[in-house]
Amino acid sequence: MGLDDDAREYHREDPPGKIEISTTKPTNTQRDLSLAYSPGVAAPCRDIDEDLEKAYEYTAKGNLVGVVSNGSAVLGLGDIGAQASKPVMEGKGVLFKRFADIDVFDIELDLNEVGEFVDATAAMEPTFGGINLEDIKAPECFEIEEQLRERVSIPVFHDDQHGTAIISGAALINAADIVDKDIEDLSIVFSGAGASAIASARFYVSLGARKENIVMCDSDGVITTDRDDVNEYKREFANDVEADTLAEAMEGADVFVGLSVGGIVSQEMVRSMAEDPIIFAMANPDPEIGYEEAKEARDDTVIMATGRSDYPNQVNNVLGFPFIFRGALDARATEINEEMKRAAAHALADLAKQDVPDAVVKAYGDQPLQFGPDYVIPKPLDPRVLFKVAPAVARAAINSGSARTDLDMQAYEERLEA
Ligand code: NAP
Ligand code: MG
Repeated sequence: MGLDDDAREYHREDPPGKIEISTTKPTNTQRDLSLAYSPGVAAPCRDIDEDLEKAYEYTAKGNLVGVVSNGSAVLGLGDIGAQASKPVMEGKGVLFKRFADIDVFDIELDLNEVGEFVDATAAMEPTFGGINLEDIKAPECFEIEEQLRERVSIPVFHDDQHGTAIISGAALINAADIVDKDIEDLSIVFSGAGASAIASARFYVSLGARKENIVMCDSDGVITTDRDDVNEYKREFANDVEADTLAEAMEGADVFVGLSVGGIVSQEMVRSMAEDPIIFAMANPDPEIGYEEAKEARDDTVIMATGRSDYPNQVNNVLGFPFIFRGALDARATEINEEMKRAAAHALADLAKQDVPDAVVKAYGDQPLQFGPDYVIPKPLDPRVLFKVAPAVARAAINSGSARTDLDMQAYEERLEA
C-alpha cells in the first residue's frame, strides 16, 4: 500500500479521526456526578462569575487551544474549505498534544469573510486559553489576526506566519553568527510575499535586520516602490531598488529566503550571491533550490535550510508552536507579543549551540549534530526544546507585562523536565 492508502486506513480505523475527549476527574459514583454537573457545578460557576480569572482554576481553559481555520490555504492543497481541512486541524491537535501536552479543539469555520470569521472566533474567547489560527490565506490572514488581537485577551497566533518566522529567525541568528556577519548588515532577498514571507520579513526586522536591506519578490518579480499592483502588506516591503527580477535581486545578497514555489533558483543565482551565503529555501514539498544543488554551486560556506526532513536544518513549525503556546498558557498570557516571539527564537538558537544528547542523535539516524552550517537549529524530536523554549516564552510574557500570573521560574522549569 502507498502512503495515501495507509493514511486513509490510519484515519478510518475505528473510532474515525485522530482525537477524542476524555475526562480527568472521577465519575464513578452518584456523588462524583453531582460534583461534576448539577448541582455541585454551580459553586465554581458562581466563583467564575465573580472573578473571570477563576476559569483557569476550575476549567480546562488554561490548557486548551482552539485551532481555528476556514481551510482557505491548506498546505499543498490550497483552498479546500472548512470541512476538508478537518483532518489537518485534528492533526495539528495531535502535534500540540504529543509535543507539549496541550489539548485542542479543532474548529473549522465555514466563513470566508474577514469580519464574520473574526466575530465567530472572538466569541469563543471564554472557551480557550489561546487561539492558533491555521491555514487561512493571505492577505485575509493578516487582517483576521490583527483584528482578533485587538478583540480578545488571550494569545492569538497565526502559526503559518509566525511559526515560520520564529524558527527561520532562529536559524538566521545562528547562520549570521557562523558566517560572522551582523544581522543589521545583511542584505536579504525574499522570494514570496505571502503569509509566511511577510511575517518572516517583519520578524527579521524585529531581530535587527534593516528594512531597507530587504528586497521582496512575488510572482511578478521585485516589489519596487513604483509597483501599484500590490496590497498594503507587500507595500510594507516595497524597496527602491534597480532590480526587477529575483535573479537580479539575488546578485550580491547575503541571504535568500524562499517562501514561494519549488525549483525557481538556479546554481548561477546562488553563485551571484555574496560570500558565504545563507539560503533558506523553504517552499514545500520542493525547495526553491535543492540542498545539494545549492551546496555544490560554490566553494565557500553555504548555509542551507529547507522544509525537508531528509536534509540538515529542517525548518518545521513543530519546533515552535507547541512550546510557544506551552509558555504562553502557563503564564496565562494575554497575547503572544514580539518579546515572546524573540525569546522563542533566541532560545532555539541558543539550544543549537549546546551538545546534543545521544538519544536525539540516535533518533536522527546517527548523523552528527553539532553546531555549524549543517546544524543551526535544534531537531523537533529533541526533548530539550520544551524545557528551553516554553520557559523563555513564559519569562518574556512576565517581563513584558502580558502574563496574568507570576511563575516561580525554577519550579516551572523543573516541572517541565519532570
Ligand atoms: P502564500 O501566502 O500563498 O504565498 C506564496 C507567495 O509565493 C506569494 O506571494 C506568491 O506570489 C509567491 N510566488 C508564487 N510563485 C512565485 C514565483 N515564481 N516567484 C516568486 N514568488 C512566487 O503561501 P505561504 O503560506 O506564505 O507559503 C509559501 C511557501 O512556503 C509554500 O511552499 C509553503 O509550503 C512554504 N512554507 C514552508 C514553511 C516551512 O516551515 N518550511 C513554512 C511556511 C510556508 P503572488 O503574491 O504574486 O501570488
Ligand atoms: Mg499550516
